[in-house]
Amino acid sequence: MSKSVAGPEIEKLIQLLARVPGLGPRSARRAALHLIKKKEQVLEPLAEAMAVARDSVKVCTTCGNVDTRDPCTICTDARRDNSVIIVVEDVADLWALERASAMNCLYHVLGGTLSPLDGIGPDDLNIKSLVERVSADGTKEIIIAVNATVEGQTTAHYITDQLDGLDISITRLAHGVPVGGELDYLDEGTLTAALRSRTTL
Ligand SMILES: [Zn+2]
Repeated sequence: MSKSVAGPEIEKLIQLLARVPGLGPRSARRAALHLIKKKEQVLEPLAEAMAVARDSVKVCTTCGNVDTRDPCTICTDARRDNSVIIVVEDVADLWALERASAMNCLYHVLGGTLSPLDGIGPDDLNIKSLVERVSADGTKEIIIAVNATVEGQTTAHYITDQLDGLDISITRLAHGVPVGGELDYLDEGTLTAALRSRTTL
């Protein structure tokens, strides 16, 4: 057991910060020290913002996004094309796609991928609510934007099966050469996928 350099309150702060993705024990110590030193400028506003977030964060019952209102800001945005739904694994993916600003449509957050080895089946994901949503609303296209992993692709096939018979087009993200990527550095799987998803110039 390493010896403590500060009182239990500060040690607890460090331990909790170390659980934040991207921060290890060392970065957590640095962050804690920064917070303590900048008590008025950083620590107090951060503590207040966290308390507000704790009290107001909600999960959208329509799409699974997190926000301070339900339905969320995206679901209630009248300027979006509500005939297209992008299906993602996680809220982080939704935020990434929004940053790209390539589409102005709606989303559906699955909350993970099918993974029998980890005991995650269809009932553990927001798949049923997706099927109900697509059946009820005027959806014309579903874009399945799950990760290019075995679990992601298994999940994509399962969703496609569940939506079978509905009058919608189901598409998925292209797999292939990243923007700015050099062919020589790509693995065989990516190159094969890129060749199969080739498009006409
Ligand atoms: Zn929503």
